[in-house]
Formats: sequence, C-alpha cells, structure tokens
Amino acid sequence: MNALPQEAAETPLLELTDVTKHFPSRDGQGVVHAVDGVSLTLRRGETLGIVGESGCGKSTLARVILRLVEPTSGAIDFEGEDLLGLGPRALRTRRRDMQLIFQDPYASLDPRFTIEAVIGEPLAIHGIGGREARRRRVADLLQTVGLNADAARRYPHEFSGGQRQRIGIARAIALEPKLVIADEPVSALDVSIQSQILNLLVDLRERLGLSYIFISHDLAVVEHISDRVAVMYLGRIVEIADTETLYANPSHPYTQALISAIPEPDPERRRERIVLRGDIPSPEDPPTGCRFHPRCPKVMPHCGDKTPTLRNIGTADRPHLVECHLY
Ligand code: SF4
Repeated sequence: MNALPQEAAETPLLELTDVTKHFPSRDGQGVVHAVDGVSLTLRRGETLGIVGESGCGKSTLARVILRLVEPTSGAIDFEGEDLLGLGPRALRTRRRDMQLIFQDPYASLDPRFTIEAVIGEPLAIHGIGGREARRRRVADLLQTVGLNADAARRYPHEFSGGQRQRIGIARAIALEPKLVIADEPVSALDVSIQSQILNLLVDLRERLGLSYIFISHDLAVVEHISDRVAVMYLGRIVEIADTETLYANPSHPYTQALISAIPEPDPERRRERIVLRGDIPSPEDPPTGCRFHPRCPKVMPHCGDKTPTLRNIGTADRPHLVECHLY
C-alpha cells in the first residue's frame, strides 16, 4: 500500500466542531436539545467508542455526521473538507466514504430481495460495475464477512440474527468506505454471537483500513473494540480519553457510575456499584448548569448554575478531557 502524503496522514479523517442538533418538540412549543456543542476528532484507522444511556443523543449524532439529518449549527470536516458546504451531488459522492451499520439488520434488509440484490444495491445505485461484476463482488463480500457465496441466492428471513448482521456489514463495506458508523451493532444479538461480530469488525478494520465510530450503551462491548471512548450525557460529551485511561481512571461522576455497573467476575477488581438517582431528564428541558447535577452523587452548590467545560486532566500527548467542576 502506498504511504499517504504527510499532510493527508496528519489531517483527521473526521473533525466535529461545536456540533448542535435541536429538534422542535412534538407539541411544537419547545426545543429538543438532542446534541449540544459536540467537538471531537477521529484519526484514520482509529475506533472511537461513544457510550451513554438511551436518549443521550448518540444515535442523532451519528445521523448528523452522515448528514442524514442536518445539524442546527457547528462544523463537520471529512478529510479536511467542509461536509456541510457540499451540495446534493457532491454529498452523494462523499457518502460512499461513510457508511452506517444498524442495530437491527433485519429492519434494514428488504425481505423481498435476495441477498445478492441487498448487498449489490449500493453498487447499483452508484453505477459501479455491470451485473456480472457486481455478482462477483457480492460473492467476494460474502466471503469477506464469513458467509458462503451461495447465500447470495437466499432471502433475509432465511438467516439468523448474527448472519443478518454479517450481511448488513457486507452491504456497508461494499463501496469500500473510509468511515463506518456502527450504531448498537451487536445489542440485538446473543452474547456468544456478539463477540464473533466484534471480532469480524476488528478484522475488517485491519484488512480494509477502516475507521469506526462505534456507538453503544454497553461499556464492556465498547471497551473491547475502541481505541478511545467518549461518554455522552444529554447531548454533550462529558468525558473522552483513550480506552485504557477511561476504564482505569474514570473521572466524571457519570462515567464512574456507568463503569461501576459493569459486571466484574474477578472479586478483587470489583468496584462498589454507584446507583444513580432517577432517570435521564428530558432533552426538551435539560437541567441548568451541569446537566448531570440532579443525579450526581458529588454535586456541589454551584453545579446547578454554572455550566462546566471540557478540561484536559491528562497530558498534551495523552489527553483526558472531563466536563466537571471537580477539575
Ligand atoms: Fe457532578 Fe458538579 Fe461535576 Fe456536574 S459539575 S458532574 S454536578 S460534580
């Protein structure tokens, strides 16, 4: 493989600056703060995990990155190019580089079509290859994700959940993307199947030079696959660090609570479980100051008034960013 020019190698694959997505509320009277001021970078070949409870904005963030929904404000650069400045035609071409893997592959696989048609669809849409070339490519892709080539003639309902996710992955990599965003890709699967799919994703990352944004509510799964992890709470990133640092030294009280809830078979390493008060508040009416303050076990008197900002408590070489007044 040719080495990338120095400049290209240093440009992050993806860079988000202060990205916000607000929706009108259902009754039309309020605003849902789904994503609020998110900044992050993704390097080439890297896997960035994004964790948080359901409703924290992580899936909306994925769709904003792909411009499946338009952000309210902020900037998104892909390979140094302003993604939000692209017109429909340029965006369509760019989308080849960015693909999404869904939680429920069955819902994304049209039951009326054969697997060959399902996996070959992105190739057909982009006018890549003739019918025979596409057929060969689908056979290759099936093999790449660990399925037999004869699967091409069958229909989605004939496959198990794990096999269907392999088909979903084959479809996602058909256009040789640079970035794959995987949104809860294993949460609908049995634990034994989960690790097979995770191992497949790791293997594909090495073989195809992919970069991943891996979204999950499951911290154990995210730890397994990610180089760095961002923790989201009510539309904001509250902590981000390399995986080893985040799991060994979680510093935001929310991250500490999430990590304390991971089942640990080794009694010596078991942490005392931190149980949070109440549920995640509505993003339609997020708490003032620190959004976590109504549930925080370490809340201080000024936390409800003053909004904290992300601060680096690590080093310049190994940043560990935390959004909390304790630091
Ligand atoms: Fe808790 Fe205050 Fe830190 Fe928010 S800023 S996480 S309320 S200690």
